[in-house]
Amino acid sequence: MGFLDQLSKQISQGVDRAKFEAEKFQKTTRLQGEVNEFRRQLDGKLGEMGQRAYELQRAGQISSATLAELAHAVDQLRASLLAKEEELKGAQAEIFVEPPPPVGAAPAQQVPISYDQPAPPPPEAPSQKICGVCNFQMPATAMFCPNCGTRVA
Ligand SMILES: [Zn+2]
Repeated sequence: MGFLDQLSKQISQGVDRAKFEAEKFQKTTRLQGEVNEFRRQLDGKLGEMGQRAYELQRAGQISSATLAELAHAVDQLRASLLAKEEELKGAQAEIFVEPPPPVGAAPAQQVPISYDQPAPPPPEAPSQKICGVCNFQMPATAMFCPNCGTRVA
């Protein structure tokens, strides 16, 4: 088999694989959606059944300690929900109120802020010195003036 034949076979295998992965992804996504839908319907039906059991319990048509307990919990949750809904309504109705400017008040005083001064840097050894004869400035390490040759060390 020639090199080009081998290459085109590898490429077509790559295409097959990509196609397989794409179809697999599509299929699993669709099945996951169907599973979720069945779960949703199941939850809905159970909720409906619970609602019905709650009503029957409250109407005294069925009597079960477990259902009575659940019905009590539902009542409490309902009360909490109502209170929370009121709280939410209140929070939604809140509007921002600009604080009124103080009447005739002087502009805010500048309060001096005191803080510790940073320690001054340690005195440095002079890095320059000046020739006593010609006033030439030179490094402190110089032993002779580079300008006039006077010994400065
Ligand atoms: Zn000098």
